Amino acid sequence: MNDLSRRQFLKNLSLGLGAAALPISFAQAAVIRPRVIVIGGGFAGATAAKYLRLWSNNTVDVILIEPNAIYYSPILSNLVLNGQRQVAQLGFKYDTLAQKYGVQVVRSTAIALNSASRTVKLANGQTLGYERLILAPGVQFKAIPGLNSNKVLHAWKSGNQVQQLRQQLQAMPTGGSFVMSIPKAPYRCPPGPYERACVVADYLKRNQPGSKVIVLDGNPDITVEKDTFNHAFTNTYAGIVQYVPNTILQAVDSNKKVAITSFGDYQASVLNVIPPHQAGGIVRKNGLANSSTGDWANVNPLSYESTAAQGIHIIGDSQGTGQPKAGHIANAEAKVCADAVLRLLSGAQPFQSPVTNSACYSPISADTASWLTAAFAYDPASQSMQLIPASFGASSGASSSNYRKMFEWANSLFSDTFA
Ligand SMILES: Cc1cc2nc3c(=O)[nH]c(=O)nc-3n(C[C@H](O)[C@H](O)[C@H](O)COP(=O)(O)OP(=O)(O)OC[C@H]3O[C@@H](n4cnc5c(N)ncnc54)[C@H](O)[C@@H]3O)c2cc1C
Repeated sequence: MNDLSRRQFLKNLSLGLGAAALPISFAQAAVIRPRVIVIGGGFAGATAAKYLRLWSNNTVDVILIEPNAIYYSPILSNLVLNGQRQVAQLGFKYDTLAQKYGVQVVRSTAIALNSASRTVKLANGQTLGYERLILAPGVQFKAIPGLNSNKVLHAWKSGNQVQQLRQQLQAMPTGGSFVMSIPKAPYRCPPGPYERACVVADYLKRNQPGSKVIVLDGNPDITVEKDTFNHAFTNTYAGIVQYVPNTILQAVDSNKKVAITSFGDYQASVLNVIPPHQAGGIVRKNGLANSSTGDWANVNPLSYESTAAQGIHIIGDSQGTGQPKAGHIANAEAKVCADAVLRLLSGAQPFQSPVTNSACYSPISADTASWLTAAFAYDPASQSMQLIPASFGASSGASSSNYRKMFEWANSLFSDTFA
């Protein structure tokens, strides 16, 4: 179907349908189907693609653009560092999305958008038209002078980087220093860096006594679960973890593994730099990162439609609603967005009272974990997502029961996204 006939179909559809409740039935779908393109197959994009197909009763064509055959989950990836998980256990293919739900998966990278002609250009030379476009490219890291991410790993996107950091840790000399740097918030998974400090300390405590973890935090204090991480740093890992707040990483000597900071230089045996984050390149290069800092995409939280371009929706870590940058809530945003896109395609308005929720489990050792959760509701007065105060909760410290529940929670999120 060409772009014109799809548009005409949608026009006809909008004349025929009012504020229909989901699931929407597209009467003429057997003949002509609207097309939604989703860019990025992480927690946000894969969920959106799946639920667009499910909730439209397969009457909307969904194309998922993703360069990688396997998505490696950052969630649980810190457990690779202390040997509790293998990277391969965190990999998900797109076969189920394709075979069970009929998502058309195209292995390529989106390199340019044209919001006027509603087309996406891919690295493989294809140009595809769409009625609605969903961008879910995650984050991109900002440059730091001297930082070579092949030598000084971030391991903040999963897969090879995490595997290599595990190898660097195993090769670390006894009595050495694992120096890690945390960027200023917002970054993906607020407790994640402190969790990493704990599992690395756990590994060193058991395997390399006398070694240290030095945590250089660009933030003035531990950003979340302060009591839990403070207890871990000063009790469980007393004498191993040294926490240094308010430390801005200014440059890196990637060959010598030196972190050059506002507080002086830190020589590392293993240096792990998590650079500051911004929205994925496809968002920024197309003028959609219009937050006040220029890092994130402002969207209408009812539909996740960009405030800078009609017909383009942005979900997951790239969006700038102020909700946490995390996989669980990316999955929730994707469902709000998929629902809104289907309503908009039928000429209806998005649901006016969306609620999203977030959960992070943090391994603290090889058999204990903590958790943090919060829900957000749309506030019509400020037209933004606001924390529901009563929903906010955190575990009182780490426990082995939390550790077991962490896998149940993660498996259910993985299934809801990829299976
Ligand atoms: C150590 C760690 C622990 C974490 N723990 C938790 C947790 O407990 N709970 C939680 O909720 N979250 C957690 N997170 C955060 C979570 O992993 C991220 O917030 C989540 O992955 C964001 O999902 P996303 O879909 O927005 O981005 P991503 O998962 O990064 O997916 C983006 C996808 O887009 C693709 N892409 C990018 N650009 C293009 C393009 N131009 N064309 C096509 N494809 C493109 C990429 O290849 C990638 O597959 C953790 C993160 C880390 C690092």
